[in-house]
Amino acid sequence: MRDHLDDFYRMLADLIKFRSLAIDREECYRTAFTIVKKLNDVGFHVDVIEHPKGNPVILAKIEGKSDKYLMFYNHYDVQPAEPLDEWRSDPFELKREGDFLYGRGVGDNKGNIVSRIIAVKEVLEEEGKLPYGIKFVLEGEEEAGSPHLHEMLKDKRDFFKDVIGVIWEFGGFNKDGSITITLGLKGILYVELEAERLRRDAHSSLAVLLPSATWDLINFLSEIKKNELNQLKSFRGGIVDVEKIIREIIEAGYEIAFDPDILKEEYGIKEFINKLEGEDALLAYYGSPTFNIDGFIAGYTGPGTKTVLPAKALVKIDFRLVPNQDSIKIAKEFCNLAERASIKCRIHSMTEPAYTDFKNPFVQGIISRLKEIGEKIKIAPWSPASGPMHIFIKYFNLPVIAGIGVSYWSSRHHAPNENIRLSDVEKAMKIIKALIKNPLPK
Ligand SMILES: [Zn+2]
Repeated sequence: MRDHLDDFYRMLADLIKFRSLAIDREECYRTAFTIVKKLNDVGFHVDVIEHPKGNPVILAKIEGKSDKYLMFYNHYDVQPAEPLDEWRSDPFELKREGDFLYGRGVGDNKGNIVSRIIAVKEVLEEEGKLPYGIKFVLEGEEEAGSPHLHEMLKDKRDFFKDVIGVIWEFGGFNKDGSITITLGLKGILYVELEAERLRRDAHSSLAVLLPSATWDLINFLSEIKKNELNQLKSFRGGIVDVEKIIREIIEAGYEIAFDPDILKEEYGIKEFINKLEGEDALLAYYGSPTFNIDGFIAGYTGPGTKTVLPAKALVKIDFRLVPNQDSIKIAKEFCNLAERASIKCRIHSMTEPAYTDFKNPFVQGIISRLKEIGEKIKIAPWSPASGPMHIFIKYFNLPVIAGIGVSYWSSRHHAPNENIRLSDVEKAMKIIKALIKNPLPK
């Protein structure tokens, strides 16, 4: 391995060892303070913010010639490794096989943390002083929906004052070697509904007289679906004009990241719902919010028969929200509607959608730099994934772009055998170093 890949391997191996699930506070503390030590070694000034219920947030800063800063946002928590028997090696021990590195968090998100710290260290060694200062925000609850991040950052306004823009945590390489620059994230609203109609389950013959929790819940859901959520005023209001955004990007000469054929092949279908095709499918993919049933529990589903009228039925639902839908308003309206139908409504989590305008000078600057160094770029207006990006955009007024990282199209984030390729690490570090040396064209 080349020198800096050696550095990368060693530092990543140190971090993969920690089972830093967001719920394991002790392990998250150990991970955070290991990262603090590595940041200190490179010359960063570090401030650790603690919270009685949350995991530490690390704010790190190193000065440059300019009084402006480029910021990286990353997270050191990981998803659970289960099912363990599907892993080819221990998920919490970094394993190298040829070009591949395996371990929980190699792509999401410890590999990106390490590549960025090492890139800073190398630019410092090569140039003595950084042209722009660099700041990091590193948190440990991203995979749990970042429930405390805003509260922990809200008194740190000064830390964000002299930042030109944020490079988000995730990114990597497509099958054709291109990278997808992503300008935002969809939001999410996760809700559980429960209908309870009887004190206990009844004999099914009594369905002529007794109410059915199952039918009530199904009817409630299908009524909303049939009306395309028009009962919820807040659901339709505020949605950005995705068609206009996509047109702007295409007119500027970029391909929009979307491959309908791969999706159809992956899921074994011949056509999309409502026969969506071409531009309509593209607009739905980016521009439409979802109303999805994640799971439905009611009555008897075991072997053979059991004639029963279930007392209760429960459904879990998620809405994927597009910029600028307001998750709080939608949650309120939806729960009011459910409660009017005597259905209990419980909100599990919400994250607001986020988007930085394609024409924003920081976005345009980073894209020009990437082109300057020969990268092939596709653009995604936003990713279907969610995260705390809106905090940076809405509360600190910063532009954010995502898509630069060490992963690739088959990195298997959140799944067994999460992996990255050393050849991609090499390419990603080259890109990050180029951005650190000069984030915006002169
Ligand atoms: Zn993740």
